[in-house]
Amino acid sequence: MDDYRAIYVDGSWREVASAERLTVTDSSTGEALATIPVATDDDVRAAVRAASDAFDPWAATSVEERARLLRATARVLEERRDALATTIAREVGMPRRLADTIQVGLPITTFADAASQATSLAWVLEVGNSTVHREPVGVVAAITPWNYPLHQVANKLAAALAAGCTIILKPSEVAPLSAFALFDVFDHVGFPAGVVNLVTGPGPTTGETLVRDARVGMVSFTGSTRAGRRVIELAAGSVKRVALELGGKSANILLRGADLDRAIPDALFKCFLNSGQTCSALTRLLVPAEQLAEVEARALAAVPRFAPGPALGDGVILGPLVSAEQRERVRAYIRQGIAEGARLLCGGPESPAGLEQGFFVEPTIFSDVHNDMVIAREEIFGPVLVIIPYDSLDDAVRIANDSDYGLAGGVWAATDDEAFAVARRLRTGQVEINGGAFNPLAPFGGYKGSGLGRELGRWGIEEFLETKAIQHPEVVDDRLGSRR
Ligand code: NAD
Repeated sequence: MDDYRAIYVDGSWREVASAERLTVTDSSTGEALATIPVATDDDVRAAVRAASDAFDPWAATSVEERARLLRATARVLEERRDALATTIAREVGMPRRLADTIQVGLPITTFADAASQATSLAWVLEVGNSTVHREPVGVVAAITPWNYPLHQVANKLAAALAAGCTIILKPSEVAPLSAFALFDVFDHVGFPAGVVNLVTGPGPTTGETLVRDARVGMVSFTGSTRAGRRVIELAAGSVKRVALELGGKSANILLRGADLDRAIPDALFKCFLNSGQTCSALTRLLVPAEQLAEVEARALAAVPRFAPGPALGDGVILGPLVSAEQRERVRAYIRQGIAEGARLLCGGPESPAGLEQGFFVEPTIFSDVHNDMVIAREEIFGPVLVIIPYDSLDDAVRIANDSDYGLAGGVWAATDDEAFAVARRLRTGQVEINGGAFNPLAPFGGYKGSGLGRELGRWGIEEFLETKAIQHPEVVDDRLGSRR
């Protein structure tokens, strides 16, 4: 078992003031994998001081220099890719091969892309008698969850650093190990002291101290709606900017004429990926009522491919959930679905045979679900798909939009044009049509209860920028022009 003893503050690893420690678990075995330190209020304040002191010089570096360090980060992450994928597979439970592509491959792309975006961004615009400058917002606190630990950290840190902000990261205490590995990379590539800082510990203590600190100019938070609300309340005290990436309950609409041979296996994959612990998981499958029986039969035929197994097992697509607590939460939702009258097609709350040690849950599908049921309204964050029948196209769009959330969606139709037209009607930040793949260069974020703001691409960097207009006595440009 690894013992992580230090946090990263002002350019070096240093031991925390408290002896308190948290244990990180291997999701597939239930065994302890590592322990991590708990940063005290003084540790957090030291990290914020380091980030504040480093801000002016870092904001004044050239974009090219910031891009060079981000590209170097991507390069060293690539060199350490194998070890990182194994660590994340163990702490999160995502099967190793998927973890390599998604949990490590995506963040590498994100660091490299932030460098490219920053060098092509319009940092200065001229309009009338004004020069409009984009400037970094200040010291950024990044608070992240456990389900895609390095990806969510990269989304925030790559963009904030590219923008010229200094950062303090508080990763999830449930899956923090890739954050330690990332800060080893930062140390190796030579970010100036104080630009990048890491504190670890629980949200309600370490996290809240960070959010409250008046020297923090922005909090970029990804996690549950409950914690997001608390962050925004605390941030109001010092009127700091807040970006929130929260939960989802995304609908996948099958229109009449959709190719079910492609749509059904894809629908299961997009729901069960990472054991359903994906904020943008397509967890509500909306099906024309007269096709319900056919879709159920096809879903049942496709589900054996998702037989649960350990994250490091060969050929496994569905791993365990992240923790015993998460498994209990998901089991309670499955019991609730049965109690509220949904029809259980497969799966259920019992542990899969032979997998009692790790935090496994059977892939579970409910049919005949009504959109008012709790299992159709709340984010379960487990491998649970609900199938909801609909009558007309308008009915399908209404059901899809009848959600407190608005993060993602899917549409399957006979043609891309037809699917596109329906996608435009969904009140969500992302929609994939006819199986369109996740695009790490496109903006990601939610409408309604799914959050505030966007990550990734140039939109992700713009989140971390202030806008300053300087008025000249004379007109400098009569059109909206741009220069660097
Ligand atoms: P969580 O809210 O429990 O924790 C997220 C982070 O917030 C952790 O670092 C935690 O320590 C911290 N935190 C908790 N309470 C806090 C507080 N009072 N003040 C400050 N920080 C606090 O969420 P989780 O269980 O780690 O992650 C799962 C949730 O994240 C799901 O709801 C999921 O949908 C959401 N999520 C959203 C996105 C997105 O981009 N929209 C992506 C991934 C996960």
